[in-house]
Amino acid sequence: MRLEVSAQTHVMPFRDPFRIARAEDDRAATTVIVQLRLGALSGVGEAYPVTYYGETPETVAAVLPFLAAHLDGLGAPPADLAGTRTWLAEADARLGAAIGGHGAAKAAIDIGLHDLAGKALGIPVHALIGTSPDLPPTDFTIGIDEPAIVAERARRAARFPALKIKVGGPADLETLEAVRAVYAGPIRVDANTGWAPGEGERLVPELVRLGVELIEQPFPAHRIEDLRRLQAISPLPIVADESAVTIEDLDLLVGVVAGVNVKIMKCGGIGPGLAMIRRAKVLGFRVFLGCMEESSIAIAAAATLAAEADWVDLDGNLLLAHDPYAGIELGDDCRWRLGDAPGLGVHPRPA
Ligand SMILES: [Mg+2]
Repeated sequence: MRLEVSAQTHVMPFRDPFRIARAEDDRAATTVIVQLRLGALSGVGEAYPVTYYGETPETVAAVLPFLAAHLDGLGAPPADLAGTRTWLAEADARLGAAIGGHGAAKAAIDIGLHDLAGKALGIPVHALIGTSPDLPPTDFTIGIDEPAIVAERARRAARFPALKIKVGGPADLETLEAVRAVYAGPIRVDANTGWAPGEGERLVPELVRLGVELIEQPFPAHRIEDLRRLQAISPLPIVADESAVTIEDLDLLVGVVAGVNVKIMKCGGIGPGLAMIRRAKVLGFRVFLGCMEESSIAIAAAATLAAEADWVDLDGNLLLAHDPYAGIELGDDCRWRLGDAPGLGVHPRPA
């Protein structure tokens, strides 16, 4: 019995232009939706390739059959929960050993296997992996734009208990002042590597004054000493995102930053994500659970980990004009509701 994998690339326009400090398409998100078949069982996964991390839809398409071949001989998931957890862990070990990098391609298979195994046992994925379905609320992210435009979007997003504001442009302070004028809750700032070294020292006192809650990835990923220097003088937690791709990156960041941002598309899926979160906590980090601009498939997958995180930023599907999948609902309290449906509980959205 071989794992059959088929992939389809989807271009998903954003509701509002979504610009960040690093170069990415600000009009549409491109994702790869992956169907898995193992005998009579099926599952759906998603790979959201980010060029910064070395992935494109083409690399995902090229790597998926290679990864699937490394699962040959794994067989079907056992009929019991403990056996199925061991089966998933074995699959993740094989995916991890098959090739370095390619976190999104690995995530697509990992997510699909969790969906498939949950359906086989008749339980939702959070029960499959043993996490709580009671989740912290998600924040809402706003991209870089003119300060007045960012403020208008912040006003529209007032129901969210926290906002994540993308910075790293020429008008960061002006933007944050404009947001603060219309929004009273915590503001999380993400520079996506976009600040020059001296900029952090200059901006931190202003960010404290404006009630910013945390600063994500101010400097380029490998500027570890710059991150350490800023954290040493910052009363706000510095959170590593681009510097914290997989579990292997955590040790280097101990004593450097207070927090790490874990994303299933960086580290390779639900299994690696849960392992990275738990290791990060053991090492004393506060954990931010983040996402890319994925459909409801990957957001539902990441949400199964949200109860383990200190801060949750799972809003990728909310940024899309047309989400090709449905099945996970955001409550009025901005907490994702994990239902009782087997697997991820997602399905193609009716046209
Ligand atoms: Mg980030």
